[in-house]
Amino acid sequence: MPELPEVETVRRGLEQKLNKFIIKKVEVCRDSTVAFPSSKEEFIKGLLNSLIYKWDRRGKYLIAKLKEVQNDNTQFPLENLQNNGFLVVHLRMTGYFEFIENSSSACKHTRIRLFDKNNNELRYVDVRSFGQMWWINKDLSPYKIIKGLGSLGPEPFSKDFDANYLKEVISKRTRSIKAILLDQTIVAGIGNIYADESLYSAGISPFREARTIKKNELIKLKEAIVTILKKSIGSGGTTFSDFRDLEGENGNFGLQTNVYRRTGKECRKCGNLIERQKVTGRSTHWCPKCQK
Ligand SMILES: [Zn+2]
Repeated sequence: MPELPEVETVRRGLEQKLNKFIIKKVEVCRDSTVAFPSSKEEFIKGLLNSLIYKWDRRGKYLIAKLKEVQNDNTQFPLENLQNNGFLVVHLRMTGYFEFIENSSSACKHTRIRLFDKNNNELRYVDVRSFGQMWWINKDLSPYKIIKGLGSLGPEPFSKDFDANYLKEVISKRTRSIKAILLDQTIVAGIGNIYADESLYSAGISPFREARTIKKNELIKLKEAIVTILKKSIGSGGTTFSDFRDLEGENGNFGLQTNVYRRTGKECRKCGNLIERQKVTGRSTHWCPKCQK
């Protein structure tokens, strides 16, 4: 599943590629990808004649700010155009975008196709089809319509996310620290890979009851999370196998994981073998010797 660094890589790619992209045609190849509005026709109508003005990211959600363009030759500053709501996307397990100049026919896993007047296409492909898209009218708030978005915890890079915050939210939690890191309402954007890698880097066992973790360990953990996420964004996402950026590239630029998918291999610090076990239904990788 694409996590914060992969989604951030997609966001940057979209911002770069879709320079003044005005949606002139919309094709919905799979109805269930449209999460909102409930009518597919309303979704299509809402997006038509929208300039994709700006891409934001919150957790693993991509949020495009739309502007209304009725006349193609609009010259005045784009900021002055009327807002036309938001296009929100969650890639879930296997969703990705492709930007195709002078587009031709779509592949079998294509779910949504957006075209400009020159037949350039922003194509959304999703093999397992858990990904979702919302068009939110300008009078509504994405944070109210999309429950998962409205309930997100702080971004790992924000000031609100520090050891004090972590201490406070975990002080009474008996769940494992791994489960806490995966909980999007506690911190946004971390999934299985970065949870395992951060816990390894901080020397904390994924199975520890969250409330038993001390302040100095939380300081280390917070730093590990931020460092690993930043490093991964810098290299275009991690070794995650299903992830593609807009050029169809796998973000596998030599960035190594220390524990994730290294079951049975030697720990890079101590030589002990990396183990794997399920925690709250997710495969968890760790070094029993380095992580206490
Ligand atoms: Zn080790």
